[in-house]
Amino acid sequence: MTATCPDRFDQALLTGYLDGELTQADEQRVRIHLEDCAACRGAYGELVTLREATMTTRLDEPNDLQWDERPRGLFSALSRGFGWLVLIVWAVGTAGYGLWQLATGPENMAEKLMVFGGLFGVTLLFVSILVDRLRTARTDRYREVQR
Ligand SMILES: [Zn+2]
Repeated sequence: MTATCPDRFDQALLTGYLDGELTQADEQRVRIHLEDCAACRGAYGELVTLREATMTTRLDEPNDLQWDERPRGLFSALSRGFGWLVLIVWAVGTAGYGLWQLATGPENMAEKLMVFGGLFGVTLLFVSILVDRLRTARTDRYREVQR
């Protein structure tokens, strides 16, 4: 409401007019007033814009999410899946090589225990993250089916 109405027209009537909640007499009054009052025309225009913006957001929100989520979900799922694959191959390869080196190497038992213990802990963490991820992926799919 940038300009004020010289006639101090009731702005609530404009909202009512927009919502179609007025009596026929009031509606007529607003229409006539809007025709010759630039200030109220501006205010009414703002109301319409505002209303359209909220309506559009409300109506489009689920749609936007749906359309946005597909490519984004697919891409991130692919890259994440590939990332996990590379990480697993790397971890297994490195661990296997390291363990083989250690098992055949001259290190003493304490060192071996330390390395194997650490590896065991890392593996446990890794598995728990993996399980969580799989569970999330399943719920995501379930949610997608539900929509
Ligand atoms: Zn006015």
